[in-house]
Amino acid sequence: MSISKELKQRNQEQCELCNSEIASHEYTVTPKNDDSIDNQVALCDNCLSKIDDKDASFHWRCLEGSIWSPEPSVQALSYRILQNYKEEDWSSNLIGTIDLDENVIQWALSALEIPDIHKDAFGNILENGDNVVLTQALNVKGTNFTASKGTVVKRIKLVNDNVEQIEGKINEQTIVILCKFVKKL
Ligand SMILES: [Zn+2]
Repeated sequence: MSISKELKQRNQEQCELCNSEIASHEYTVTPKNDDSIDNQVALCDNCLSKIDDKDASFHWRCLEGSIWSPEPSVQALSYRILQNYKEEDWSSNLIGTIDLDENVIQWALSALEIPDIHKDAFGNILENGDNVVLTQALNVKGTNFTASKGTVVKRIKLVNDNVEQIEGKINEQTIVILCKFVKKL
């Protein structure tokens, strides 16, 4: 991985995290892409090699400086790395001191979030369009019927903002069903 001239010059050729070595790599802060240096951080060999290291506390004290960078990408990457050390006083104190823009914090934490996955009662991953079977009888709210165990629900739809729920049709009615009460067919 090389580095664009423009990015290298942003911090006078110095690494934007440690500010003590020559920057020789461009690092794109996910989930953004590399089409703008605003999404990137100029890194030295040393910082690049330690970025996923969870045992480099001594090195990462340099974040106490870089977190104050005016560049959102540098703030986001610094904040993201700090999360690896939040059990340690220096890091938790720093996290408590800084006042970053909410968008930067979301950017920083986005890499650490667990993706939303709908799973059935047995841990199988559910997808839109799957067919499932009820693993227990369900009283369907607002209707006068009970869906019996073993009822097949075809072409389910995942509920976007709730990983515990799917939608499906039983007796021609669309109802919300908890994932833990279904088995994927
Ligand atoms: Zn560095």
